[in-house]
Amino acid sequence: MRSEKPLFRQSLVRSALDDTSKLHSIGILSGVSEETESTVAIVGGGLSGLATAAHLHLKNPDRKLVVLESSHRVGGVIHTERIDDFVLDHGADMFALNPPAAINLCRQLGIEDRLILPNQTGRGAMIVHRGKLKPLPDGFVLMRATKMLPILTTGLLSLRGKLRMVAEARVPKRTKIDDESVASFVRRRLGNEVLQRIVGPLVAGIYTADVEKLSMNATMKPFVEMERQYGSLTRATFARRRSGQDSVERNSTGARYEQFRAFPDGMIELPKRLSESLPAGTVHLQCGVQSIQRLDDRWLVQDTDGGSGLYDNVVLATPARVSSRLLLDIAPAAAAELASIESSSTAIVMMAVRREDIAEKRRMFGFVVPPIERRRILAASFASEKFAGRAPQDHVIVRVFIGGTLQPELLENDDETLVDIARSELADLIGLRGIPVVTRVVRWNNAMPQYTLGHVERVQRIRESIDSTPGIHLISNALDGVGIAPVIAAAEKLANQID
Ligand SMILES: Cc1cc2nc3c(=O)[nH]c(=O)nc-3n(C[C@H](O)[C@H](O)[C@H](O)COP(=O)(O)OP(=O)(O)OC[C@H]3O[C@@H](n4cnc5c(N)ncnc54)[C@H](O)[C@@H]3O)c2cc1C
Repeated sequence: MRSEKPLFRQSLVRSALDDTSKLHSIGILSGVSEETESTVAIVGGGLSGLATAAHLHLKNPDRKLVVLESSHRVGGVIHTERIDDFVLDHGADMFALNPPAAINLCRQLGIEDRLILPNQTGRGAMIVHRGKLKPLPDGFVLMRATKMLPILTTGLLSLRGKLRMVAEARVPKRTKIDDESVASFVRRRLGNEVLQRIVGPLVAGIYTADVEKLSMNATMKPFVEMERQYGSLTRATFARRRSGQDSVERNSTGARYEQFRAFPDGMIELPKRLSESLPAGTVHLQCGVQSIQRLDDRWLVQDTDGGSGLYDNVVLATPARVSSRLLLDIAPAAAAELASIESSSTAIVMMAVRREDIAEKRRMFGFVVPPIERRRILAASFASEKFAGRAPQDHVIVRVFIGGTLQPELLENDDETLVDIARSELADLIGLRGIPVVTRVVRWNNAMPQYTLGHVERVQRIRESIDSTPGIHLISNALDGVGIAPVIAAAEKLANQID
């Protein structure tokens, strides 16, 4: 991809540290200019780092910029593997159009025409209910029914559960303004059955989270505001309908798939294209940063191989625990708060199976499994049903998610056992038989930050600490949104703040 070793040998740095007059020569040697234009090192070549770099470059193509990535490839938790005719996304497989930052960046980079939409047929999500797959009621949007009839007729809720949900309009509005867990909000407004059977698994599926700990303010703020403004979600829905805001939701199921996009060659295309949009030599692979120190009014960034460079600005775009470590001496308050952000781990068992080996013939994009079902998988996603070109017509790619916050112990199993678990659960739920033609297991350890109660205030404290450390900047999926679209929105905002 890009050049391998960016900076200098340790001896040079040592002598530079002893004699600061040499620091400018380090700048010159490293390609960092002595002139007034500020220089930027971005630590981490995942989406956060690359999107920040792309925005900085779009803003000022002459800016001196490096991206320092510890691994041998860009993309971080985004990766795609092609095996024969199968395109296997190891992590994210699509991104949302809202916030529009991701699609806008694709447009600015001239890659918007590469994007593909989810298939228009066979869409929709299912939920496991007493061992059977049942469709999510049409028009249900995370925690709000935008159509009444599908809720009244759904097999996912008992009569009692439906009546409780319909009574939401009469539930008094919460007067306290402090944070509340997703479970508490849903139980209070819609009832325990809706929490357990529909909303819990849907929301937990996005964050691989425990909804009892997940912060409403950090993850579902629009619903908090609906309650505050209209008194209930039901009244908010009527008001939105009158003003025409609910037209999309009313015509779609659950995840509103037309609001998502992907790349024909899988999601890895996004980080690759971002990287390619930067001048040659900007991205340095196998360059793990081990320390950042103040040196006069600049920052000395040292890598694990003894290389180093001096920069006016350093952007930390590493996972929260790594950023915490790098900030320990220079922004200890931010370091402590970052260290307190929990993250969950997941394994994804990816399988390409013959279509004829699946007894369930309904076409679906995937299903989620409520914890109350007591199964060993969190969800399954049918990648080849979502997007064309992922597999030959007579095969299906299924990705099975295992672990998460509630079942971390399952990840102690070896890969072979995880495959057995996935196959046996799928045998039960969709009648899978036979041997997959391709099998891959990928493990994402501590990759999904948990936005637990009080997250918004925690992020505020982190920002205050970082803002009082001039030249140090932080971007992370642990702060303002885990999805690709919010991460790119945060990158754009950050790039606009760097002079
Ligand atoms: C399994 C999974 C599925 C997902 N699915 C979706 C989805 O469908 N849609 C969606 O919108 N979002 C999805 N997401 C979320 C989204 O992909 C991530 O939030 C986003 O890609 C995170 O990017 P990042 O750059 O912040 O972090 P990372 O991808 O973790 O990147 C951090 C980078 O820093 C590097 N690094 C670490 N330490 C150092 C160091 N010391 N020096 C230099 N570099 C270092 C790492 O190697 C890595 O490349 C998913 C996430 C996961 C884990």
